[in-house]
Amino acid sequence: MSNPPPPRSFLPLDSLFDNPLFAGGLGLAGLGAAAALGRRWVIKGASLIKQRLLVDLEISKQDESYQWILAWLSLPRPQETGFITSRLTRIHHISMKTRVQKTANGSLPPVKFHAQSGYGKHIIRYKNAFIQIDRAKQASHNHTTGEPHETVTLTTLYAHRNIFEDIFEEALYLERAAQSGKTVMWSSKGTDWVQFGDARRKRPLESVILDQGIKERIVHDVKDFLGRQEWYVNRGIPYRRGYLLYGPPGSGKSSFIQALAGELDFGVAIINLSERGITDDKLAHLLTKLPPRTILLLEDADAAFMNRRQAESDGYNGATVTFSGLLNALDGVAAGEERIAFLTTNHIDRLDEALIRPGRVDMTVRIGWATRHQASEMWDRFYGDIDVQSEGRTLFLERLEQLRLIPNEEGAWKEGARRQTSTAAIQGLFITNKDNMAGAVEMAEGLIPRIYEP
Ligand code: ADP
Repeated sequence: MSNPPPPRSFLPLDSLFDNPLFAGGLGLAGLGAAAALGRRWVIKGASLIKQRLLVDLEISKQDESYQWILAWLSLPRPQETGFITSRLTRIHHISMKTRVQKTANGSLPPVKFHAQSGYGKHIIRYKNAFIQIDRAKQASHNHTTGEPHETVTLTTLYAHRNIFEDIFEEALYLERAAQSGKTVMWSSKGTDWVQFGDARRKRPLESVILDQGIKERIVHDVKDFLGRQEWYVNRGIPYRRGYLLYGPPGSGKSSFIQALAGELDFGVAIINLSERGITDDKLAHLLTKLPPRTILLLEDADAAFMNRRQAESDGYNGATVTFSGLLNALDGVAAGEERIAFLTTNHIDRLDEALIRPGRVDMTVRIGWATRHQASEMWDRFYGDIDVQSEGRTLFLERLEQLRLIPNEEGAWKEGARRQTSTAAIQGLFITNKDNMAGAVEMAEGLIPRIYEP
């Protein structure tokens, strides 16, 4: 008995399957689907492996360590540290950072080139681990500087995750080594602080020559303040101290602040209040995020007072700092809890008494025209080793006295003396006459400035 033929399906599928063209197409489609599925599994599997086996660490440009890590990636290592010589050997995208340093005398400026890890992905080997470095620009921008946000992502095997700690330690070590003995200067760019040039070699305090006792008084006061944080905290007083240095230009105000910062191992964050574009808002914002361990230096403090006068007289409300903006910055909500601020001005007469109040300005010091004491000390600094008998110094001081540029030996000004000279001018004279004492005495007449102090 033969089996009955299978019932024909309602749909004409059999005939379709019998069709070689259709069956072939279906086969291909099946293969395609299987491949897509396989691919999806592979991707899923890879991402699972990545999740399980890899670990990454993202550092944004806003973070302080960003620059250290870039520096760590590119700096050749000194042999004695035991670090591998250069990480750039395996980096195939390098970007160049060129820094031109300004010189005051117009000579050809030294140019520094720094090779650093460029954008894109690089693989490096550190100790036993392979690390992928991905430096990328983000689509978003910093609204104030207009620069795109940036990140560096380090990826390595999960088993090697502890390597990140070593990298950061090494990067920090290198950063510290580069900065030790140096003073970092900060300037404002929009509402951000940016490091102003390379860190400068610390200026020794002895190299700034102020009149007797002035330096010591300020240094003692700042050090005393730094040792009394608890005293302030216990009494609920904001831990802030303000100093106002006033006097003619070229008397050493800025130089002293820089040297003081070096002495304390602080940086200096500078805002010039007469600069266009520094508004009350920007000032307030900048003060809320002062870089750590910095002295705030507000130059040309009188500018804010000029603006106020202008505002009162003609309703001017320009894009510069106002009097109330400055006061707010000094002791308002935006002032920040901890801070040492120095204000400088060449025009004390333009300031307002409201400024001289504890918490705003606690100490006011005049750094004036060169005195006999300063001229004498400066001479010794420049010619001390060749003027063994101090005869040159005596001649020079007599000459300055004759020219009525400094007070006489009793400390009194000659009658009718109205001329003054700045310490910067004396320094200029000595630099022109290096190792030439007679030349310095002879050319002293050139110190007579066209400025007269009434
Ligand atoms: P200020 O801030 O008072 O205008 P600076 O500190 O900018 O003056 O000084 C200008 C230049 O003159 C600097 O190169 C500085 O070294 C030199 N100078 C001025 N005064 C002194 C001083 N008292 N001691 C040592 N150098 C001085």
